[in-house]
Amino acid sequence: MIARMDIRITKAERSKLQDINFENLPFGKYFTDHMLEADFENGEWKNVEIKPYQPLLLYPSVVALHYGQAIFEGIKAYKNQNGEAFIFRPQENFKRFNISAERMQMPTIPEEIFMGGMKQLVALDKSWIPQRHEYSLYIRPLMFASDEVIGVKPSENYKFVIMLSPTGPYYHAPMRIYVEEKYVRAVEGGVGYAKTAGNYAAAMYATAQAKKQGYDQVLWTDAFEHKYVHECGTMNVFFIIGDNALTPDLESGTILDGVTRASVITLLKDMGYKVEERPVSIDEIIDAYKSGARLEIFGAGTAATISSIKELKYKDFVMHFDVEKWKAAPAIKTAITGIREGLREDKYNWMWKI
Ligand SMILES: *Cc1c(COP(=O)(O)O)cnc(C)c1O
Repeated sequence: MIARMDIRITKAERSKLQDINFENLPFGKYFTDHMLEADFENGEWKNVEIKPYQPLLLYPSVVALHYGQAIFEGIKAYKNQNGEAFIFRPQENFKRFNISAERMQMPTIPEEIFMGGMKQLVALDKSWIPQRHEYSLYIRPLMFASDEVIGVKPSENYKFVIMLSPTGPYYHAPMRIYVEEKYVRAVEGGVGYAKTAGNYAAAMYATAQAKKQGYDQVLWTDAFEHKYVHECGTMNVFFIIGDNALTPDLESGTILDGVTRASVITLLKDMGYKVEERPVSIDEIIDAYKSGARLEIFGAGTAATISSIKELKYKDFVMHFDVEKWKAAPAIKTAITGIREGLREDKYNWMWKI
């Protein structure tokens, strides 16, 4: 049980819920009526409060804006067939948030604020969780350095925020992917395993270059040989080859330890696949492609759940896949969605009741 925090709650005078068109819900554009805010000052977390969603007042000198001491999480809440609200595996995000905090020399956050606060906030804005197939409420916790001083050193003050955004089906058409050989996302000893702001800024240029050439995303490779695959954009990547499933292991610290990744591994094993977590080279994928083996490649992450890859370009070699004939990727997507929406048994207790 999580200790219950005393959280000051100021309710919005009027709900914006009626103003939102749920038929047209771009990802991350609309926010619910309330947000949570807390401050880290003099070595402790204080001022935990839930209040109407509103701007933050900041001086231009705050450390996060200059040196990027900022981390975040992405989590989703769902309603089951009876309209009861649940959050998908938030304990994993809580752990990861504190791992990111440690790497960025930021304070960790106690469970009663992250988990307890999130629960109270989602409960208050429960009517914003759509009870519709493939809809959810996206939960975005964020922490940033708030010292007002332009000096390169870890901040002494931090702000923690949780905001909520209703989201519709993320119909990702099967993707065309460019295997990146020039730019890198992460390197051993770096911060690839942390969900920190700078990782996303650093990835934008390469992604824009790939988009100019008609690709949807890049498949990142290792910094030394550009031979071992890391991640697909901001998703973990899976390769189904025959009855085996491969995904890069987490040993080198270059890969974000995705909650969707962990869930996909569990479900693939349940479905009888032999799952190997180890370095995966692009050559091995090309060999499998040339041999005519059954091959499915997909990205896994909270935003889109599962995104199939229909084309993979490496140097001058282009691999095409007939995603319509795939079995594993759609089965995994159906299984996860089913658990989240209460259509399938939640045998691993992934759903946390609000
Ligand atoms: C968030 C993220 C993922 C996916 O993690 P989930 O917990 O499954 O949402 C994968 N890669 C990167 C770089 C990410 O930021």
